Amino acid sequence: MEDENIIRVISIVDDTVVDGPGFRTAIYCAGCANACPGCHNPSTWDPKAGSDMTVQEVFDHIVSDEFANVTFTGGDPFFRPLGFAKLAEKLKAETDKNIWCYTGYVFEELVKNQDAMKLLRNLDVLVDGPFKQELKDEDLLYRGSSNQRLVDVQKSLEAGRFVEFDYNPFKLQ
Ligand code: SF4
Repeated sequence: MEDENIIRVISIVDDTVVDGPGFRTAIYCAGCANACPGCHNPSTWDPKAGSDMTVQEVFDHIVSDEFANVTFTGGDPFFRPLGFAKLAEKLKAETDKNIWCYTGYVFEELVKNQDAMKLLRNLDVLVDGPFKQELKDEDLLYRGSSNQRLVDVQKSLEAGRFVEFDYNPFKLQ
């Protein structure tokens, strides 16, 4: 049974500029069941990699940086979404930080899952879909392969279908 107060963290990277626009605090979690051939980081698949942190500990780390926004990545944050759901809810309630999240699942699958929905409700942008080596494109913004999409999560939930995130390089969203 997943503990909603715990996130299994492999590392927290401060001020990254590759996991979404602007400076971001990236939470790299353990656990991924997607096994994409050519995955850049297979050591993150093991759910026991890294160590447990409480949601409060991860939150305190994030808010210690007043300016950086936030990215959830891994591994796959949706492998065990409840800790991230609680963290995202707290970030949205207590800060104005935006949240990007990477996943190997697609948006249309995630909306059918109750636990996944708890996390989606507080995300701004979802970078979705498995990494596909044959569609790899290094020119893509914040994605590895061309099947992956930048999902505007709130607009997509409202519309009941995928709405692409309208990326504006001049706005740190
Ligand atoms: S979803 Fe990401 S971490 Fe998981 S196997 Fe695919 S590329 Fe690797």
